[in-house]
Amino acid sequence: MLRYERARQIVIEEIGKRRGPRATAGVSVWEALGLVLAQEVRTDRQYPPFDRSTRDGYAVRAKEVVPGSNLTCVGEIKAGDTVREGLAPGKCVQIMTGAAVPAGADAVVMIEHTQRKGDLVRFERAAQVGQSIVPRGSEAAAGQTILTPGMRLGYAELALAAQVGAVQLKCAKKPRVAILSTGDEVVLVDETPGEFQIRNSNSVSLAAQVRIAGGEPVILGNAADRVEDLGEKIERGLKEDALVLSGGVSMGKYDLVENVLKAMGAEFFFDAVAIRPGKPTVFGICRGKPVFGLPGNPVSTMVTFELFVAPAIDLLSGAEVRALPLLEAQLAEAMNEKPGLTHFLPARVEWNGMLPEVKPLRWQGSGDIAALAKANCFLVVPADREKIEIGERLSVLMRKDVV
Ligand code: AMP
Ligand code: MG
Repeated sequence: MLRYERARQIVIEEIGKRRGPRATAGVSVWEALGLVLAQEVRTDRQYPPFDRSTRDGYAVRAKEVVPGSNLTCVGEIKAGDTVREGLAPGKCVQIMTGAAVPAGADAVVMIEHTQRKGDLVRFERAAQVGQSIVPRGSEAAAGQTILTPGMRLGYAELALAAQVGAVQLKCAKKPRVAILSTGDEVVLVDETPGEFQIRNSNSVSLAAQVRIAGGEPVILGNAADRVEDLGEKIERGLKEDALVLSGGVSMGKYDLVENVLKAMGAEFFFDAVAIRPGKPTVFGICRGKPVFGLPGNPVSTMVTFELFVAPAIDLLSGAEVRALPLLEAQLAEAMNEKPGLTHFLPARVEWNGMLPEVKPLRWQGSGDIAALAKANCFLVVPADREKIEIGERLSVLMRKDVV
């Protein structure tokens, strides 16, 4: 059976092969968080635009400042002040953080290392050339490319665009991801379920995960476990950029998703992955669109989305695939797992000491949403491990939304 790393690679390869240019739109820098840039952004001038003081203190000639030297202060320069005049030899000028350093000055001495009496400033220690000054152009030259197509716009990237005056950004349109749950027992979340029915929580978690991954969820509701209903709703889903189904991919008599997709001409790349939860995950391409059949158990749906659908949304967004948010943590208690499949167990990682420490949570298996709501990560137990000792190091897959 496929290891999850390989299955993920297959998703990336197959979607990567078929990736075309994305439609774009101009978006305000205030609204572009999480979008993928579809243009270059260049600086409008050099950065910093002037030699900038990084301290409140005195602008000096470094060679004139040794422990105990005194200089006459000839004025002050606030952030934003126009500075045309140079600093005369033997003088200093009071300067604020963010202000322009006058010509002639080559160091700023922080105020904490000075004493002032009237116009006379006494310096406690020697100054080094360049101290507390960021030279003009040292962060970026004028006209330099600072953001490139395919970059995802986080708060730092948005600030950088704003800094250079790029307030309208050409961004890739978010991929539209159709979400279709399946199951005769499933009712809409605003309906009251009968005694043996359940609410469609998967469509809610999937919509949230699609948003976090950078896609636009399109909720198609629920299909009954009947060929005709499934066929119709899948047909509708294939109008979007990708289709994610939950449920109906196991071995049950009414697990019809794969057969219906096959009849519609889907090409499958895998229909099982060596993980638990999430083993019967299906990935295929149907009429040019990526289709994921995720198992219906809520935690299975969540894990398999992170592993296989999130990278697809990266690619469909015109971005590079982001690595899985894996980190290494020390196991807080001994464990005994059944070998054979890579396990993804709801767990909590805490940062108490040097190494993050991870504790698996009690749970009732992959239907236990409450356990996952207490978790901030999945503990990844490799397929070949059975007895694991306290203190051993294992990988954890972080939940992107709560950490
Ligand atoms: P399935 O993968 O269709 O065999 O479903 C596995 C389990 O997940 C069953 O207990 C289902 O009732 C449950 N399930 C299926 N779809 C959903 C859904 N949309 N929301 C919550 N639970 C679901
Ligand atoms: Mg089902």
